[in-house]
Amino acid sequence: MLVHLRTLGCRLNEAELESWAQAFQKKGHQITREQNEAQLIIVNSCAVTQDAVRKSRQLIRRIHRDNPSAKIIASGCYVTLNSDEAAELLGVDLIVSNQDKDRLVELAIQELDIPTMPAMSTEPGEISLFSRGRQRAFVKVQDGCRYRCTFCIVTVARGEEKSTPIEQIVQEVNRLVEQGINEVILTGVHLGGYGSDIEQNLGHLISAILEQTSVPRLRLGSLEPWDLPDNFFTLFNNPRLMPHLHLPLQSGSDSVLKRMARRCKTEEFTQIVAAARAQVPHINITTDIIVGFPGETAQEWQDSFAYIQSIGFGHIHIFTYSTRADTKAATLAEQVPNALKKQRSQQLHKLAEAMKQEFFRQNQDQSFEVLWEGQKEQINAQTHKVFGYTPNYLRVATIIDNSQSLENQILEAKITAITPKYLLAELA
Ligand code: SF4
Repeated sequence: MLVHLRTLGCRLNEAELESWAQAFQKKGHQITREQNEAQLIIVNSCAVTQDAVRKSRQLIRRIHRDNPSAKIIASGCYVTLNSDEAAELLGVDLIVSNQDKDRLVELAIQELDIPTMPAMSTEPGEISLFSRGRQRAFVKVQDGCRYRCTFCIVTVARGEEKSTPIEQIVQEVNRLVEQGINEVILTGVHLGGYGSDIEQNLGHLISAILEQTSVPRLRLGSLEPWDLPDNFFTLFNNPRLMPHLHLPLQSGSDSVLKRMARRCKTEEFTQIVAAARAQVPHINITTDIIVGFPGETAQEWQDSFAYIQSIGFGHIHIFTYSTRADTKAATLAEQVPNALKKQRSQQLHKLAEAMKQEFFRQNQDQSFEVLWEGQKEQINAQTHKVFGYTPNYLRVATIIDNSQSLENQILEAKITAITPKYLLAELA
């Protein structure tokens, strides 16, 4: 059968698509990027915001309209939280909730009478869904979360923490390395909670991957700033562990963090960042901030802004708070007016841009091992610009001759100049 896979939302959804693609290939099916030639289509939906819910519904409807003969399996957070509604959507043949995601291929074969043709099975990895342009791949290592941040629907949709055994992850990483992947990104709902259900922790996992695989670059996905294992920062003594941490702070005001039910207040966050910067050279700390959380007063905003400024982030993902039904925050009083949210978001974007440029300056004249990608920008008839990422997740570009390609190579380069969006570098 020709199978097409689509996803909305987070890196976790993307990593799940990759593992479903591998599993369908093992059963003798083929993966196609052409939606309209597929006989089976899998949709991994999202529900992080009302808008994501709308887009998930829209995607399922559009797929059915464009390819009415294909069977559709719908999974993911929107489907898990609205299974009856999703089941009613035209064209949906099977609903697979988040809790059953690991069995999606098995359920597809069982429930939709899909044949298995082991003889036809292609070697896993022969056709990798989209390992991000063959340089890097996301690997899901855990699901679910025990915490209840008041704005978060993910913890409701994805349930309790569940970790993939270390051996299985090591096998997955080795398989990706065989495919030529140079960078693996570990991802989860609460990555720091890895192993809580199997008497392991994130430190054990990272050490095992660095010892039992030859993956050149191991990167951590978004990591809540708590539940970090002891001696966490000594792990970065291994240069294959990338010196970049995305630590969602969400607000720089402790009273707002309290209403968010966040486990990390500004004092703890300061200590984590100080420890990271003291022990890991060139480390890049990036974060998520929600602007306009219910009840956010002018004073709380000032406190938050001043705190964020005091930390200095390499990059900030800025989210303007929007009410998400079925979350505790949606019931909180004093929703912030949209005009005020917009104003605060603009202020923070300006600050974030200034901090990004400052971090660029701190890295100027430094040399890094860059993982180069396929994207090109023609300069003239002889040369073109190519892009890549440093270990501390800075986007760099260099100019090479048209006869050359650096795609998927790790090559040293020296940062020579700064542009608003990326750094310019010269190959060593
Ligand atoms: S820790 Fe993260 S996933 Fe868990 S409830 Fe909070 S925001 Fe959601």
